[in-house]
Amino acid sequence: MKLLDNKVAIVTGAARGIGEGIALKLAEHGASIAFTYVSEGSAEKAAALEEKLKGMGVKAKAYRSNAGVFEECETFVNDVMKEFGTVDVCVNNAGISKDNLLLRMSVDQWNDVIATNLNSVFNMTKQVIRPMMKAKSGSIINMSSIIGIRGNAGQASYAASKAGIIGFTKSVAHELGSRNIRCNAIAPGFIETDMTHYLKEGAAADDFLKKIPLGRFGKTEEIANTTLFLASDMSSYITGQVLSACGGLNI
Ligand code: NDP
Repeated sequence: MKLLDNKVAIVTGAARGIGEGIALKLAEHGASIAFTYVSEGSAEKAAALEEKLKGMGVKAKAYRSNAGVFEECETFVNDVMKEFGTVDVCVNNAGISKDNLLLRMSVDQWNDVIATNLNSVFNMTKQVIRPMMKAKSGSIINMSSIIGIRGNAGQASYAASKAGIIGFTKSVAHELGSRNIRCNAIAPGFIETDMTHYLKEGAAADDFLKKIPLGRFGKTEEIANTTLFLASDMSSYITGQVLSACGGLNI
């Protein structure tokens, strides 16, 4: 059964990692996909993903757009509206980490993480709620993190950005529930991607694994499945929630 036939989904930061997994999963369920990337170095991967998605029989297009810059998000969503006609699902996935102990954290490191992880969610949500309000329907899914719930040494900026996403998500759910627009967050644990590559090496990896009841890192497809659930009508009575997909991690 396809859960997203005739739907249009935006996924930010989808050239690799969790975002790529989400784009593939939503396409597998019939959604047309407009996705972003930001680095010049990801252009080839983005083009390859666009072709792969088209090969799955859905409409797809890659856009180079910085989610942390309001004007770029405005242009991106306007372009998507012209090309795809509407936006039914928006997955705010783009994110970075610039870990450092607070004592050593620079203002630039702090600002970069807040702009990319938190401002991006505001920038994109501001844009997509217009077509969603017109359609009286929509699902917005924001990628938080278990670190935003629990905090972590060396990750004050990342944790603050991800906790901010949770407050934003719950507020938007209150504001737009009456318009049938749902807004939820996902809090992944440690998922195998470029972002967590360093965690898998050395003695620290064993320590992390001991804290995860399921005894392993998560896979991008597992976050993609969680996203699919929140994007589709399978979750039609769920809004303002944070769904942890973390193997039971307790840090
Ligand atoms: P990756 O580093 O593997 O991929 C990040 C993606 O975000 C890339 O596609 C990158 O684009 C894109 N991106 C970064 N900055 C911007 C920007 N300013 N505008 C648009 N796109 C941008 O990360 P993950 O896949 O691991 O993480 C995806 C999301 O999940 C993030 O929000 C992360 O915080 C969150 N998360 C990840 C966890 C994990 O364990 N991996 C755990 C909890 C949450 P480009 O390719 O062009 O650089």
